[in-house]
Amino acid sequence: MSSSVALRLPSIDGLLRHPACLLLAERYGRESLLASLRQLLDELRFSVLNGQLSAVEISPDVLAGRVGERLAQQQRSNVRRVFNLTGTVLHTNLGRALLPDEAIDAVQMAARYPLNLEFDLASGKRGDRDELIEGLIRELTGAEAVTVVNNNAAAVLLTLNSLGARKEGIISRGELIEIGGAFRIPDIMARAGVRLHEVGTTNRTHARDYEAAISPRSGLIMRVHASNYSIEGFTARVPTAELAELAHRHGLPLLEDLGSGSLLDLTRWGLPAEPTVRQALLDGADIVTFSGDKLLGGPQAGLIVGRKELIAKIKKNPLKRALRVDKLTLAALEAVLGLYRDPDRLAERLPSLRLLTRPQADILGQACRLQPAMAEALGEPWQVSAVQTLGMIGSGSQPVARLPSAALCLRPQVSKRMRGRCLLNLEAALRQLPIPVLGRIDDDALWLDLRQLDDEPAWLAQLPQLQVES
Ligand SMILES: *Cc1c(COP(=O)(O)O)cnc(C)c1O
Repeated sequence: MSSSVALRLPSIDGLLRHPACLLLAERYGRESLLASLRQLLDELRFSVLNGQLSAVEISPDVLAGRVGERLAQQQRSNVRRVFNLTGTVLHTNLGRALLPDEAIDAVQMAARYPLNLEFDLASGKRGDRDELIEGLIRELTGAEAVTVVNNNAAAVLLTLNSLGARKEGIISRGELIEIGGAFRIPDIMARAGVRLHEVGTTNRTHARDYEAAISPRSGLIMRVHASNYSIEGFTARVPTAELAELAHRHGLPLLEDLGSGSLLDLTRWGLPAEPTVRQALLDGADIVTFSGDKLLGGPQAGLIVGRKELIAKIKKNPLKRALRVDKLTLAALEAVLGLYRDPDRLAERLPSLRLLTRPQADILGQACRLQPAMAEALGEPWQVSAVQTLGMIGSGSQPVARLPSAALCLRPQVSKRMRGRCLLNLEAALRQLPIPVLGRIDDDALWLDLRQLDDEPAWLAQLPQLQVES
């Protein structure tokens, strides 16, 4: 719209006295309001001078409304809850394990009050934060000693640096892996000051390969859980017990990075077998490292367990101070470990295990129940069906194993040419919901794996707000 008389933006002072702005000032503070108003008026000034805006568009009512939207947007936290319906349970990009109530209570307590983080209540002297969870971890793994750091990547870095700096680390070529997010074993070794001595081949490494590599320059032998890939076919790998015997014969420590590292045999819940920490130690590994938020089901942390004198050496490394965990993590970790003392009830109490062991029939029942609501929210061009599907544990646990699950399969009934765009629009619309819903696109459909949908009411309540661009 153009007019012969040049329009003028309302003054800041005038706007500040507008009733809607008075309310905004009360809600968000006068400073924030003022900053947003200034910013908005600055942005509009040019368009107004060029006659591109109507009188209504720069009326105090409209401007107050726009500033209100901006302030609400700014106040919204960047850390948002989402629905993880990707089918990957321990999803690294979505925060991995969910904590049990016991751990959430412990975190709240640790956040709210002073606590004995490094204070021995028995003696009244200075304590060591690792001691808060040392007893539990020793009981659950059979380890002599324990130390905890920020994550497993830190655990590997710290261990390598403490035990192998300026020496050679011997490792099979089949275990020189990349975990993702730039965690590559050769790079971590280099950063830890350990010289990589790779042995064997990608698919086959024998005891004699390790043996031939040992020299006065050797500092340690390392074994890494292949985590996110699998080698099948013509393969050979030295069992941990044999490798430990070989290492010890030459006076070298064996370090095993288990990655996920389970504390219990998962096959008792019908899940794929994962090596346990206890077994790795029994087999003779001197140090075992594993994550707190993968199969363990706890907070992000890296656990280092094993021989007492080696753990003592690791704890003396100045890097330990840089990589240590905070009080919230320790509080959560202790609570989660406590649940492991009662394995019979673990699958009920530990959310990650509860979700991983959820029966397919149960998930399919939920998919059938939710199908009509989803179909109604999407309308005409979409075919919505409740189907069986396969999910994943995630976080490098059992890369090839699949979890029998069920999903809502959303298929656009449009020409092949249009399908891709249609699916991307739906994916974007689901992300725009108050609690963003994340699924996965595969085979010309969008799949919402319902294994992890435990807050059905919240999910259903926001469905009517779904607005898919066509
Ligand atoms: C996941 C993983 C890591 C890294 O652990 P974070 O806890 O993510 O730091 C290291 N090694 C292996 C074998 C892993 O699977």
